[in-house]
Amino acid sequence: MNRTMEEQTTIRPVEKNNDGTPEEKPVISILAPVYNEEPVLPELYRRVREVMEQTGEPWELVLVDDGSRDRSAEVIAALHEQDPRVRGLSFSRNFGFQIAVTAGLDYVEGDAVILADADLQDPPEVFPEMIARWREGYDVVYGVRTRREGETWFKLFTAKLFYRLIYRITDVNIPLDTGDFRLMDRRVVNVLRHMPERNRFLRGMIPWLGFRQIGIPYQRKARFAGESKFSSVRQMLPFALDAITSFSYLPLQLATYLGFSLAALSGLAIIVVILLRLLGPSNPLAGQATTLVIVLFLGGVQLISLGIIGEYLGRIYDEVKGRPLYLVDRTWGIDLRPER
Ligand code: UDP
Ligand code: MG
Repeated sequence: MNRTMEEQTTIRPVEKNNDGTPEEKPVISILAPVYNEEPVLPELYRRVREVMEQTGEPWELVLVDDGSRDRSAEVIAALHEQDPRVRGLSFSRNFGFQIAVTAGLDYVEGDAVILADADLQDPPEVFPEMIARWREGYDVVYGVRTRREGETWFKLFTAKLFYRLIYRITDVNIPLDTGDFRLMDRRVVNVLRHMPERNRFLRGMIPWLGFRQIGIPYQRKARFAGESKFSSVRQMLPFALDAITSFSYLPLQLATYLGFSLAALSGLAIIVVILLRLLGPSNPLAGQATTLVIVLFLGGVQLISLGIIGEYLGRIYDEVKGRPLYLVDRTWGIDLRPER
């Protein structure tokens, strides 16, 4: 068969591994952030491989070690030795879930990326359905939790509350009961990579992007091993505050609304007091207690408003400093790019 020069030169060269076998470019990347997940990782690899082999798609598993204090990094290194489709990097310290995912997205190579927790709470058995939806033309396929196993009632309750609150007060339609478990097309990943914000709430950023998104129901499993890093109020509150401040100005506007309401109320009160003075008994509204309570109340309202401004201001300060989002210590099968 006759080929033109152009056609011939556009054929991708087959890359070779050390052992001489041709390296297949992954179509599906599975990305999992890892923080102290040593006992889970071998099982994660096993389950991912099993499921991906069934789909027949070339795949890779990208693990981002978020400054683990156990031997997670060593396990990633060993997995990479054993199977070069496992690649990874390790941060210089703990930077948090959102940043770990962001770093992973900088280095995944697939045409689609599946973001899943390392602890197997997002079961790999759902991947084939996500891939099927993606093949149908959807850009984002997110998992909607129908049931959650092995969670405390406190976590379930606060999560329910959080999703409903965030749904009401933001302008973005963030789907209810949807975590970070989702498949994203390459073009979605590319857009995300150009959103440099520091306070990253991916569960809001991805719906904000638009494109064609669809949810599929799944049952969230119990952790395979280890324990949750988001179980107490102290661990969950910063996440909730980041979510609210990145997607809503309502808390800032509350001060304005409250100001207007209180001003209107005092306007009325002035008229009432004057009328009482002119027409009423000799000493109406006697007592300092009332005054004190009102002054204290207003002081409280003002401090809260200042605090809310502070929450936003601190985040603006973080953004303005423009420090790198993360610092990489070690890599396995990844060539670092200096851009972040
Ligand atoms: N994780 C992380 N950095 C952190 C905390 C958690 O990369 O600072 C990872 C963790 O290893 C897991 C995922 O984020 O793969 C979800 O964390 P976890 O299971 O503790 O949260 P939960 O599922 O209980 O909400
Ligand atoms: Mg978990």
